[in-house]
Amino acid sequence: MTAMEQMEENLQIFSQNNPLTDDEKAMLDKVVQSMADLVPCTACRYCCEACPQELDIPKLISMYNELNYSKKIGVLDFTLRAMDEKEMPSACLGCGACQKLCPQNIAIPDVLAKFDKALQEAKTQ
Ligand code: SF4
Ligand code: SF4
Repeated sequence: MTAMEQMEENLQIFSQNNPLTDDEKAMLDKVVQSMADLVPCTACRYCCEACPQELDIPKLISMYNELNYSKKIGVLDFTLRAMDEKEMPSACLGCGACQKLCPQNIAIPDVLAKFDKALQEAKTQ
């Protein structure tokens, strides 16, 4: 807020008593839950240096988040088709070398295992 008019406008907006409808609350709950499930990777790439499989870990985590958020494989299909087997989460050895370097303490091998499982399940549907 840099001007009196902006402050007055904000006060007017926040002083209105317009409670959310049940539908709006349900939608908000859904968004909050989807966001709570997201893996908080900042794409710093520290983990990548340690991976013997040279996996693009932040890319895989971003894809996993996308899948978790949309609940549909459709959005990732194009990207997945362009990837080689050795780039997929199934190539993770579960060695944990990456996890030690992650400032966000992300359980990377677990995330990649969950992502792989979700992809395998999606293939059978
Ligand atoms: S746990 Fe998987 S992703 Fe992490 S360093 Fe080992 S092979 Fe790479
Ligand atoms: S070190 Fe952690 S936060 Fe950084 S890119 Fe890897 S998983 Fe993401």
